[in-house]
Amino acid sequence: MRRISILGATGSVGQSTIDLIARAPDEYEVVALTGGRNIAQLAKDARRLNAQLAVTAHDDCLADLRVALQGSGIEVAAGAVALCEAAARPADWVMSAIVGAAGLPPGLAALDQGATLALANKETLVTAGPLVMARAAASGARILPVDSEHSAAFQCLTGEDPAQVERLILTASGGAFRDWPLAQLASATPAQAATHPTWDMGQRITIDSASMFNKALEVIEAKEFFGIAPDRIEVLIHPESLVHALVGHTDGALIAHLGAPDMRHAIGYALHWPTRRELPVARLDLAEIGGLSFQRPDPERFPALGLARQVMARGGLAGAVFNAAKEQALDGFIAGAMKFTEMADAVAASLERAEAEPGLIDAEFTLDNIVMADGLARTWAADYIGNLNKR
Ligand code: NDP
Repeated sequence: MRRISILGATGSVGQSTIDLIARAPDEYEVVALTGGRNIAQLAKDARRLNAQLAVTAHDDCLADLRVALQGSGIEVAAGAVALCEAAARPADWVMSAIVGAAGLPPGLAALDQGATLALANKETLVTAGPLVMARAAASGARILPVDSEHSAAFQCLTGEDPAQVERLILTASGGAFRDWPLAQLASATPAQAATHPTWDMGQRITIDSASMFNKALEVIEAKEFFGIAPDRIEVLIHPESLVHALVGHTDGALIAHLGAPDMRHAIGYALHWPTRRELPVARLDLAEIGGLSFQRPDPERFPALGLARQVMARGGLAGAVFNAAKEQALDGFIAGAMKFTEMADAVAASLERAEAEPGLIDAEFTLDNIVMADGLARTWAADYIGNLNKR
């Protein structure tokens, strides 16, 4: 039996992971499931999968979790430290599917125990790429990408000589506002931004898809994971979301990965790697689909992509600042405190303030320094939002 833990089990990726595991209950022993505020779902899955441990991120949810799991024999716990302890419980495979920078410390704990880390939480590599890679190397843990574009690229690269890779192309649907007139973007509401044309995902990543902050994070994640130079990573808008990534080789060959827009594809690949297994995903009928289209993203419409280039060129803790400011700006947009188009301005302003802070971006890559940069960036972005509201 393979011992499995799922961090962020109640979310979109977590639920897709559970869907796959629940289809073969005899193959898996579920060690730990973690969630946030959706206690009913966490308790239901913990019982169904007979987990050893269920953890909520929030201390004020512990009593509810305890009641929901009464009589089950399943251990319960709450809080940030308990999340890391859950990730550190001996397991063979750990899914990292918490949303945001909160996923970093438990991800590191899973790596430290040597478990294979199936990485959906892109913020882990964006905020702490070199630290994460060093911790994986120290324990011998393997990281398998779960972001669909990175899983696709990983599959295209299997068996290839990295020295002969010329470029990596990540595709993007273009999100909810791909075809909106530019002038209308400032009036976009959170509900409109949270509607994705092709993927069914959590609210935050869906809004990040509309602003392309999601793709910006993915470009940085790809640089960290594959070690490809930033100028060799391209983004193409591909409205059909069927080609997830392409890898160009020195002989001119471009190898593409196609599949239905269903996260169980990438999750299943990471779950069964290095083998392939039958997965409950739709098969593409290319004759029925008829055509695939691609366009270059408009930098004016999607300023987040330019900011990602700036972050990669700067290196150091710029990724942690970028991500934290983006999370704060997203909170501001969801709360109605700022316009859709102001999110990129808030992030740019936070990056500028970080530059003005002596030694901050070039500080050593430690968890403490990353947490410090993250905290400062949130404050700066919040200040920016506060000033907008004083106008
Ligand atoms: P969701 O918002 O659907 O789920 C997030 C999960 O994290 C939930 O279990 C939630 O708990 C939990 N959570 C929220 N806040 C915290 C916190 N502070 N501490 C601990 N746990 C917390 O997100 P997604 O599943 O959409 O995305 C998860 C990650 O995977 C993100 O990094 C995203 O970028 C990445 N990803 C997602 C894809 C997708 O298709 N959804 C595709 C590729 C990557 P609760 O809901 O109980 O409050």
